[in-house]
Amino acid sequence: MAAALFDADGCLSPRGFAQISAAPPGRAPAELAAHLAGCARCQRRLLVAALPSGTPSPRRPPPPLWRTGVAVVVCLLLVVMAMVLTQVLRAPR
Ligand SMILES: [Zn+2]
Repeated sequence: MAAALFDADGCLSPRGFAQISAAPPGRAPAELAAHLAGCARCQRRLLVAALPSGTPSPRRPPPPLWRTGVAVVVCLLLVVMAMVLTQVLRAPR
């Protein structure tokens, strides 16, 4: 029985994946769960299979350049304000 759950490379077969997917959380067969815990290839395959088909890459596109510029300018403005505030607080009265 266990042989059908693993393929020739020793990784989970489609039937093994189906059995893990069908099991309630925390109740997957110990042999399959032990292999999955230690095998990056099977973890990757399981995660890819869990994504809805046609889903674009989860990586988000970079923000527009103008937004990055605004963030930099705001940061510089905050630094200048902190420097001015430091001078004002240090000034002798
Ligand atoms: Zn594996």
